[in-house]
Amino acid sequence: ATNMFVHVRVAPLGEEYILLLADDRTEITRTAAVRNDFVANVSHELKTPVGAISLLAEAIEGAADDAVAVRRFTARLHKESARLAALVQDIIELSRLQGADVVLAGAGIDLNEVLAEAVDRNKLPAEEKRITISVGGTVEQQVFGDRDLLMTALRNLIDNAIRYSPEDTTVGVGLRQRDGLIQVSVTDQGPGIAPEEQERVFERFYRIDAARSRHTGGTGLGLSIVKHVVANHGGEISLWSRPGHGSTFTVRLPVIEDAVENDQTIS
Ligand code: ADP
Repeated sequence: ATNMFVHVRVAPLGEEYILLLADDRTEITRTAAVRNDFVANVSHELKTPVGAISLLAEAIEGAADDAVAVRRFTARLHKESARLAALVQDIIELSRLQGADVVLAGAGIDLNEVLAEAVDRNKLPAEEKRITISVGGTVEQQVFGDRDLLMTALRNLIDNAIRYSPEDTTVGVGLRQRDGLIQVSVTDQGPGIAPEEQERVFERFYRIDAARSRHTGGTGLGLSIVKHVVANHGGEISLWSRPGHGSTFTVRLPVIEDAVENDQTIS
């Protein structure tokens, strides 16, 4: 069972609506189960930073006379609360994406521009690791969608490429148009992802190496968010990777002409 988009254009008003339809009952039942699972996972994931924060607060109280220790604990307290904030933000984003009311207010989006901004916003972390972001290709056509969501998706992919890459490497970002699809690819020279992990990395809270992911500031929700954004836009995401040879994530989104062809015009 799959979700599908139906474009409906109300001709006299010139307004477009997209309806997201769950196409059968099984899908609805499955969605409910997945949601319960999500709640259980969320509670579990929140416990770690919340627990750390209360321990650190106690430690600060106990170390009141030791200025150096207080500074150290305070720095960790800030880090844990930033982690908690990121986690809460990703959880909200993901639960919004799992609802049926996403991409209601879509528009024609120029991915050249969105991608350029996504790269720009990742400049600082890249510079910190002396990673070069090399951008190639432009596209003529637009995609239909939600700019903020597409931005989030592209930023997450570039952010991961930077976080999982060693210093002094290159992250390649490419844009091209092919067979009525716009293709965005993000390639890194990082550790790569083993074949048996390649599907799992898109699952919520799945991390290949939880300790390292925590260290690099990940929430375990990034790729899951990307996957949902892409699906909500009628696209797909794929991963090519070989351990030791880096990874390439490729997003394919239908160009706007395709969407218009499938429109049902009500007059
Ligand atoms: P996280 O917040 O942990 O980065 P993601 O959902 O973005 O969560 O990714 C899930 C897991 O997939 C990560 O913990 C990491 O193990 C792996 N991963 C994601 N992107 C890459 C990449 N570019 N190279 C290697 N591993 C990656």
